[in-house]
Parts: sequence; structure tokens; C-alpha cells
Amino acid sequence: MSNQKSNKIIVIGGGYAGLRTVERLAKNPNNEILLFDKHPYHFMQTDVYDLIANEEDFAQVTVDLFTFSMGFDDNVVFHKQKITNIDFKNKKVITSIQRHHYDYLVIAVGSRTKYISTVPGLREYSYGVKSLNRAMYFKQKFEMSLFKKVDESGTCCTPINIIIAGAGLSGVEIAAQMAYFSREFYNRNNFICRKLNIVLVNSGKTILKGMDKYLIDKSQKRLLDLEVDIRNEKKVIELNAQSVKLSDGKVLQMDFMIFAGGVEPNGVIYNLDLAKNKAGYIETNEYLQVPQYLDVFAIGDCTTIFNNGLPVPPTADVAEQMAELCAKNIDRLILEKPLLKHNIKSRGTLIALGRGYAVSKVFGIYSNGYLAYAVKKIVEKVYAKRLGYRSNRGCKKIFGT
Ligand SMILES: Cc1cc2nc3c(=O)[nH]c(=O)nc-3n(C[C@H](O)[C@H](O)[C@H](O)COP(=O)(O)OP(=O)(O)OC[C@H]3O[C@@H](n4cnc5c(N)ncnc54)[C@H](O)[C@@H]3O)c2cc1C
Repeated sequence: MSNQKSNKIIVIGGGYAGLRTVERLAKNPNNEILLFDKHPYHFMQTDVYDLIANEEDFAQVTVDLFTFSMGFDDNVVFHKQKITNIDFKNKKVITSIQRHHYDYLVIAVGSRTKYISTVPGLREYSYGVKSLNRAMYFKQKFEMSLFKKVDESGTCCTPINIIIAGAGLSGVEIAAQMAYFSREFYNRNNFICRKLNIVLVNSGKTILKGMDKYLIDKSQKRLLDLEVDIRNEKKVIELNAQSVKLSDGKVLQMDFMIFAGGVEPNGVIYNLDLAKNKAGYIETNEYLQVPQYLDVFAIGDCTTIFNNGLPVPPTADVAEQMAELCAKNIDRLILEKPLLKHNIKSRGTLIALGRGYAVSKVFGIYSNGYLAYAVKKIVEKVYAKRLGYRSNRGCKKIFGT
């Protein structure tokens, strides 16, 4: 048995950033890792467009965190507990059940949908897609509505009206995927009543604000081909169970609204006595440490990092790159070596726009059509397979099969 002291490392959040950190840190047998998440599963948000449009079921977009953690060599333990606060001075994370000591801490709690309080009805009558619960409710209601319309065929043919507010990556992918899905659904089954209206409400001048012109133009064309009604420079200002009022005074009938119009730091961040930027995200230095406590790191969507003075967009790809560096820097802290500075930037953007079609920019190369879609699917599958390997290994340990 080694006499070397073990390093107690707590990772809060089993998202893209948290799991990558665990994978890297678990390679050192002297690291004892405790992973915490308020849910028992990892939710692959990048695949949510397929979940909503019934291309995938919930098991395909989740990974069980108990079996995932069991899949390592006995140095990772998962606790399904929500962290409510952190006592940085005494190095303890606090849950509703107990306090846990750490030597090193990684905060990777992500962000959540920001339901703007000045928009009456937003929280009550719209669905966010950052949480699996809400995405599942939406998926089921959507399927039920399609069934009702089919059932009504021959008597009446009222359309299903879906509003998607927010035309960033997630809003655009969802709008395209739903439009594609419903077109296929009606065509495949030759249903007579085939009216599904999708309106994409966007506060910016163009969809996908801040992205390259190529990605914007190709995505816009595809959405229009799929008959998505894009309303640029409009905001949702009020909604109730049946309708949505826009900033130009127009009132749109709706069966559902998906709100993909903004995010904010996850709840626990508000409780933490740490320096935060104007938007409330945790401040970090170039090594991804929290400046006040150098044994604490914040990574993924709960922090904002900059490259060449510009904020790096929060994506799963960026979250994983932060995780890699964070794990290396924890190793270096342990070994008392100088830490590595980050030079993280987005490696690419892949936007799925209905089955068989995507637009992309990967390592500076643009593409659209089936090739881009195939690359997106390969990236998703490789990711799911990597986590699935640990989870299968954990399952074998528990059940022997
Ligand atoms: C619809 C949609 C599509 C997207 N598509 C893409 C894409 O194509 N490509 C891409 O790169 N990115 C995409 N993104 C962005 C990407 O999903 C995020 O950037 C990524 O999830 C960030 O990873 P994270 O680990 O920081 O946070 P998350 O993945 O959100 O994980 C945070 C984890 O922390 C847990 N947690 C939160 N609070 C607590 C607490 N108090 N106690 C314990 N646990 C807690 C949560 O349960 C969660 O498991 C998409 C996002 C959405 C919503």
C-alpha cells in the first residue's frame, strides 16, 4: 500500500465540465474524488433537439452518475445531493444532509434558463430546455397534441402553434428539428390535417447573433425552407395559456412556447461568497482558479473566460477544455509545480437543422449539408460512448453482467 497522502477532491456538478474533470483526475490513484449532483444523471443538453422531436428517448440523452462513478478504480464516489453553500474558510461543501471536507474543489454547476421576471406568464406558461424535467414535459405534450390533431382529422383541422423565443444555437436547432420532424410525420402517415406553425421570435437583427455570416445565412435559409416563421427584432412581452404578445403589439395564438432566450448562473452561485462578474458568473483567473481561494476552481458555464479580450462562448466543447486544464492544474498544485494558463477558444460550431442537415465551422472550415450533420452525430456518439464505457463498467461491478 502506498504511504502517499490521498488528495480529497470534490467536484460539484455532473455536467460536461464536471465529468471530464473526474475522468482526468481519477487517473491518479491517490486522488479520492467525490462527485455531487442534484440529479442522479448527466443530461446531454447538446442532444435535446433530438429528444424534443422524438428522435431520441430520455435514456439516450442521460448517463447514470452512480454507475458512471463506479466505473473507475474505486476512487470516485457519487452523491446525489444538492449543494446549498460552501464554507471556503474551513474547506467544506454544505448540502441539505451533511458537510464534506475537501483539499481541492471544482465548481462546475453550469447555468439555468433565465425566466425574465418582467415578462408576465413566462415562467408559468413556457418550457425551458436546460432541465430534463421541462424538456420531457414538453416532449410528451407535443406528442399528445399531434395525436389529438390526428384524432380530430375529418372533423376539424385547427393548427398546432408553437412559439420558440430566442434564436441562439438552442432555439434555432429546436425550431428546425421540430419543423423537420412534423413535416416527416405528416408525410409518412399521409394525414389530412397537417398544420403545424412554428414561429421563432428573435430580439436580434439576425438569428444566431454573434456567429459567422456563413452560419447565419445557411441556417436562416434552412429554417425558411422548413417554413419556420422568423420574427427578428421582436420580443415576447407577455403570455398566458393560449397566446403570446410580442413587442410590436401582435398577439400570436400558441399551444406551447419554448423559452430559449437567456441563461443565468445556477441558484447556488448566488449564495457563494465569491467575486462575480456583472452577470453573476464566478470570476476566475487565467489558471481557472477562484482568485480568493487558490485551491478552488470554477469551470464550465458557471464562469466566463476571455481570450484576446473577448468572452469565450459557453459551450460543451469549451466546458470540456476548461475541465482538462483544471485537472492538469490540480495535479500541478499537488506536485507544487507552476500552473498552466488557459488559451481556450471554441474549436467549432455544429448546428443541426433537421435530420440529415447541419451547418458547421470546425477548426475554421465551413461546411453544410449531410457531411456537417454526420460530423455532429459522430461527435455526439463518441461522447456518449466514452461515458457509456464507464457506466457499463460500473454496472458490471454492481450486477456482474
Ligand atoms: C438546447 C441546448 C443545445 C446546446 N447545444 C450545444 C452544442 O451543440 N454544442 C455545444 O458545445 N454546446 C451546446 N450547448 C451548451 C452546453 O450544453 C453547455 O455549454 C454545457 O452543458 C455546459 O456544461 P457545464 O458542465 O458547465 O454545465 P451543465 O452541463 O449544465 O452541468 C451542470 C451540472 O451541475 C448540476 N448542478 C447545478 N446546481 C447544483 C447544485 N446546487 N448542487 C449539485 N449539482 C448541481 C446540474 O444538475 C448539472 O448536472 C447547448 C445547450 C442547450 C441548452
